[in-house]
Amino acid sequence: MSNRGNLIILSAPSGSGKTSLAERVVRNLGNIRFSVSHTTRDRREGERHGHEYFFVSVPEFKEMLAGSEFLEWAEVYGNFYGTSRQFVESQLEAGCDVLLDVDIQGAFRVSEQMPEAILVFVLPPSYRELEERLRGRGLDNEEVIRTRLKIARDEIKSYKKYDYVIINRDLAQSVLELKAVILASRCKVKSQIREAEPIVSTFLEKQI
Ligand code: 5GP
Repeated sequence: MSNRGNLIILSAPSGSGKTSLAERVVRNLGNIRFSVSHTTRDRREGERHGHEYFFVSVPEFKEMLAGSEFLEWAEVYGNFYGTSRQFVESQLEAGCDVLLDVDIQGAFRVSEQMPEAILVFVLPPSYRELEERLRGRGLDNEEVIRTRLKIARDEIKSYKKYDYVIINRDLAQSVLELKAVILASRCKVKSQIREAEPIVSTFLEKQI
């Protein structure tokens, strides 16, 4: 009896605090892995190959694409991003939950292929706060910030298509909420069968 892991897809406008949220949850929940995407975008200060992303060239990305290595891929802000099919499948197969951080196009593409995936949208508290966070983190130039804000205005309209919404006013509270979503999914009957069946059989043996 196989218990596949759960696939949790996290989307949010850039600057919503989604990366910190994902990192904290993966660090303190256990039995959940973050899917590290491949991207052709330039590495930001502090980012490490294989940690935040696998940084690849455009030809390398296209070669992987031709080899059907991506579960989904998208062009976001002029760069390519893709999710490794092999990583996601092997973790789920081994019973481990997987957390994906993908844009809304990626979220819907994955959910078409895997309808059981749980879609979580992270909302920043307001447009103004998102703008302040994007400027405050000092990672992008003005043009990039404007593009990200414009895309955020479009992306945010899709939140109702997700299963859950987390309003990220306070990181600690958002961590609790995302953990609650993941823990609840682990308690679903289909996720508990492997452990529940042996318990149930001990009752069936006791025929009076
Ligand atoms: P950033 O460059 O700020 O790290 O990410 C930009 C956007 O790309 C974010 O919305 C992020 O969710 C999205 N993204 C990151 N990895 C993937 C991926 O593998 N597939 C898709 N579709 N989007 C991704």
